[in-house]
Amino acid sequence: MTTETTAVHRIYNFSAGPCTLPLEVMQQAQADLVDFGSASGGKGLGMGVMEMSHRSKPVVAVHEAALASLREILELPDNYQVLFLGGGATFQFGMIPSSLAANGQRVDYTHSGAWAKKAIADAKAVGADVNLVYDGTDNSYTTLPDPATVQSTEGSRYLHLTTNETIGGVQWKAMPSCDAPIVADMSSDFLSKPFDVSPFGLIYAGAQKNIGPAGVCVVIIRDDVLEQCNGEQINYMNYANHVKGGSMLNTPPVFQIYMVGLVLEWLKGKGGLAWASEMAEKRSGLLYDAIAEAGGGGYYSCPVDAAYRSTMNVVFRLPSEELEAKFIAEAAAQGMDGLKGHRSVGGCRASIYNAMPLEGAQALADFMREFAQKNG
Ligand SMILES: *Cc1c(COP(=O)(O)O)cnc(C)c1O
Repeated sequence: MTTETTAVHRIYNFSAGPCTLPLEVMQQAQADLVDFGSASGGKGLGMGVMEMSHRSKPVVAVHEAALASLREILELPDNYQVLFLGGGATFQFGMIPSSLAANGQRVDYTHSGAWAKKAIADAKAVGADVNLVYDGTDNSYTTLPDPATVQSTEGSRYLHLTTNETIGGVQWKAMPSCDAPIVADMSSDFLSKPFDVSPFGLIYAGAQKNIGPAGVCVVIIRDDVLEQCNGEQINYMNYANHVKGGSMLNTPPVFQIYMVGLVLEWLKGKGGLAWASEMAEKRSGLLYDAIAEAGGGGYYSCPVDAAYRSTMNVVFRLPSEELEAKFIAEAAAQGMDGLKGHRSVGGCRASIYNAMPLEGAQALADFMREFAQKNG
């Protein structure tokens, strides 16, 4: 990978997704885009990674390396299969229940916010018997249940949860131990910390938050869950067909998978999930401290219960919407972009995924203190 970073113009990008990617990865991709394999200097294959057949040797090698890296980073046991699918995490909202529960079978869902809501709607749409074991409507999705109190119901095919609500900024800190396998939407905190995969029957994550560009979704499925899938799906929606095809049932999103492979290599080089977790704690700690202390305290507020605050998406408010608009504009002028909260909730949000340098979080924390002082 090229290490020349000095002359490149980069800002701190706090966008929720697509979001910032490691500079080294972007620079390697820049070279490979035109001449695959030329990043280290010299000649490559004379064609770009986007131009090659997905069945060609180099692309198959890229594909397999990305799958192997993911297995290595997660220390994934052999009874889990890894797939790179199209359609984003959103497609999984429907593919999962239609594979496991379309014939009116019972499934348990936790309703923790905007993303859970979409998953629930699609499970209902395909005809599953959806039971809510937790519903955060009353607290406006600002907290989560104690995992020890969450249990699946009799006969449930799975219990679904959203490990990190990207819009609301709430994050599960531990998993429930329930009888049914857990199915988790990990889109916005996948690979941000080590975790035990054994409670999970299925994990899915759209790449564009922590591990690459939009357009590919990682699906990890346990063999016993795979066997329970009904086979009445159209070809593409049948997990078993993807597994049989080595995650190359059809033309996969080659470029996205190539990028995911580079990000995974980068993550391994940094120190894997232990490093990611340490950095996530540091970055989010800087921002939550600034929220608590800036301007003598109380200038910023975070609506989320302190026990479940996200290490990936830090949401906060200022004393007025006018000040929020001013804050977002002035931050952008200083090279800190993407701080506007989701349009459904307003306020501010700093998304600080794996590729956000610690300096970015520090710069934002400093700016928050300065802004509070000047505009208090
Ligand atoms: C972004 C996001 C999604 C949607 O991902 P797409 O790839 O756009 O379908 C789903 N769930 C969560 C938690 C997300 O953050």
